[in-house]
Amino acid sequence: MRILTGIKPTGSLHLGNYAGFVKSLLELQEKGHEIFLMIADLHALTDPTNIKKVKKIKENLVAEIVSLGIDPKKVAIFYQSEIYFHPYLAWILSCFTSLGDLYRMHHFKELTQNLKMKKEQVNAGALYYPVLQAADILLYNPDLVPVGEDQKQHLELTREIARNFNKKVKKIFKIPKEYLTQTAEIKSLTNPFKKMSKSDPDGCLGIFEPKNMIIQKIRKAVTDSEGKIYYNPTTKPGISNLILIYHLLIEKPLKEIENEFQNSSYKEFKDLIIEKFFEKFGSAREKKKEILLEVPQIVKLGKEIAFKVSCQLITEIEKII
Ligand code: AMP
Repeated sequence: MRILTGIKPTGSLHLGNYAGFVKSLLELQEKGHEIFLMIADLHALTDPTNIKKVKKIKENLVAEIVSLGIDPKKVAIFYQSEIYFHPYLAWILSCFTSLGDLYRMHHFKELTQNLKMKKEQVNAGALYYPVLQAADILLYNPDLVPVGEDQKQHLELTREIARNFNKKVKKIFKIPKEYLTQTAEIKSLTNPFKKMSKSDPDGCLGIFEPKNMIIQKIRKAVTDSEGKIYYNPTTKPGISNLILIYHLLIEKPLKEIENEFQNSSYKEFKDLIIEKFFEKFGSAREKKKEILLEVPQIVKLGKEIAFKVSCQLITEIEKII
């Protein structure tokens, strides 16, 4: 099976990214699939303040992904901006996409409805980027695209654009299927009703951040006054989130974790989470600096593979136009 996945370089990886992205990629790479991992640096520019930061962030991101076990010999890791076919195909696909479809995408709605921006003020890239995302995917004709709940809408649009092109022009795009990532969402340590995200740094556990910060954040994680450890996200959101984190770190079933800690205090539980965190990520944290030096070769290799494969599809398109 061929698989295409991508991640936007907006910062250093946190535990939520590990749960929702890296972990499933690690599983997929062991199954012997042909995998393309695109670092979506062009997408990062939909927030133009990122333009000067993105180079450093993406190099760092590649080093982190590889430190965590993604093998560049099994997964082609490349920068989206280095394969010029992405925006080229996106232009062609935009002629097969209605504005109505773009206006109903979550991200655009978030900007205009929740953040109350006027439609006229939204930068065109923020409206148009789902088309670029469709091109990112269709360029490689993948069988599967791993997506979290939040990205399902974009994949559905991608399929619609592909069907539209196949029907009106020529059947050249495979209709990609979604591979839903199974892991539960990790919540913020300061507000367990919200998703863990770098926009809330105190509640966000960076995998590579300084040791003392990690210890401090876990120790301060919101709990409750009951003093008992069991899983119930509605009545005990903080503790349930810590149970999920522990589950992620040691891969034991939730029931076993509940049994293990039925007589423990919250402090003992948190101390063990800290210990397991460094057991799980200690070697990746150590390796990162060294791998950072290898990033240019890693993405060069990825680019060669991505170029070769995407060239086949672009050659088909060129024959048509
Ligand atoms: P982001 O950093 O929000 O662009 O997300 C990158 C990837 O990490 C996506 O696949 C997200 O679905 C996943 N992800 C981000 N935050 C979390 C979270 N708190 N829990 C689980 N998965 C997450």
